Amino acid sequence: MRWNVIATSACLWTLAIQAQAATIIHAGRLIDGKSAEPRSQVSIVIEDGKIKKVEAGYMKPQEGDTVINLMEYTVLPGLMDMHTHLMSQHSKETYTEKFFMEQADYALRSTVYARMTLMAGFTTVRDLGDNGVNSIALRKAIEKGWVPGPRIFTSGKSLATTGGHADPTNALRGDYRRDAGPLEGVINGVDDARKAVRQRYKDGADLIKLTATGGILSLAASGQNPQFSDEELKAVVATARDYNMTVAVHAHGTEGIKRAVLAGVDSIEHGTFMTDEVIELMKQKGTYWVPTNMAGEWVAEKAKEPGYLPEIVRPKAAAIGPVIRTTFAKAQAAGVKIAFGTDSGVSPHGANAREFELMVAGGMSPMKAIQSATLEASKLLRIDDRLGTIEVDKIADIVAVKGDPLENIRVLQSMAFVMKDGVVAKSP
Ligand SMILES: [Zn+2]
Repeated sequence: MRWNVIATSACLWTLAIQAQAATIIHAGRLIDGKSAEPRSQVSIVIEDGKIKKVEAGYMKPQEGDTVINLMEYTVLPGLMDMHTHLMSQHSKETYTEKFFMEQADYALRSTVYARMTLMAGFTTVRDLGDNGVNSIALRKAIEKGWVPGPRIFTSGKSLATTGGHADPTNALRGDYRRDAGPLEGVINGVDDARKAVRQRYKDGADLIKLTATGGILSLAASGQNPQFSDEELKAVVATARDYNMTVAVHAHGTEGIKRAVLAGVDSIEHGTFMTDEVIELMKQKGTYWVPTNMAGEWVAEKAKEPGYLPEIVRPKAAAIGPVIRTTFAKAQAAGVKIAFGTDSGVSPHGANAREFELMVAGGMSPMKAIQSATLEASKLLRIDDRLGTIEVDKIADIVAVKGDPLENIRVLQSMAFVMKDGVVAKSP
């Protein structure tokens, strides 16, 4: 009896595949990632993980087709976060856990953060800095279907100079405070710079991340001094180009941002002390800015909580964190190219869509904010030929929320439906 049931369902399955069964989404409202205005009552036809048709009206299904009713929802392209750290999430234990956690512990924990990110509607992320192996293993685990999570483009270990923002031995006691080198992403001089980029390529990274200025959460005194020379920056960019890799640059202070933009990097992360001169330079060069308002907000909040942040970090967090708000208002109005990014892993994973709210509060239109996480992000990742919008022949990464994000941007923080590669990960 049981065998019959199995045989029957197996036959139906085979027939369904032969008939090229499609999935049809009936979208009440569609924001396609590209058009200036939304459309109402649209059908999106998906086959083999790709979008085959986008048509006005609610299409009737053929036999065997699956209909997903999102008539009461706003449908958007899968969201993209250009700045995450899936390996960790900041806590009071952040500075000491590395002495107690195995690589396997990090890996398993990061699968939880990956799932939360996907369920929040982020089907693609750019992961910008970890221990050098975690995000690469996580990317593989997600690609193989071992764990659910977003499509990952990772830099692996960030590059820093000695004592810089991503030097893994900062502030440790003498016997641990070794002279780290290019293998661990610490460079001094152009030869090291080239070697460190080649090492990331060898590790399996997709792009290069470097820390051109001090940072807030590292155990070091300055949060904004320049930490790479012009020659080192140019060597990183030139070598990255040899391997068809882009370069993402963490920078708070003006001088470090300016040097990086002049060296021809692809994106500035944070960009806190961006001046009018730097804004003009970035517009000329076409450099993307990934503002990470959420990180600024989070560190400014935590700086107020006594004992949460180490004493070397706290004054930096209090001084630098709040500045991003005024910088964002100024730079977005000036028309710098913006790609959405949160620095999640500083703030908690899965809350990524809060960034939209901060962007809109900073004067950006809701549609532009959404496009920064769809079309613009896909351009920065150089995947706009296959992702970033809801159009025919693109990969079916599709999400939906109840309500209208153009009227209330906060609805993006309650993700109702998530599809990645044509497979439903979450439904209402
Ligand atoms: Zn970061």
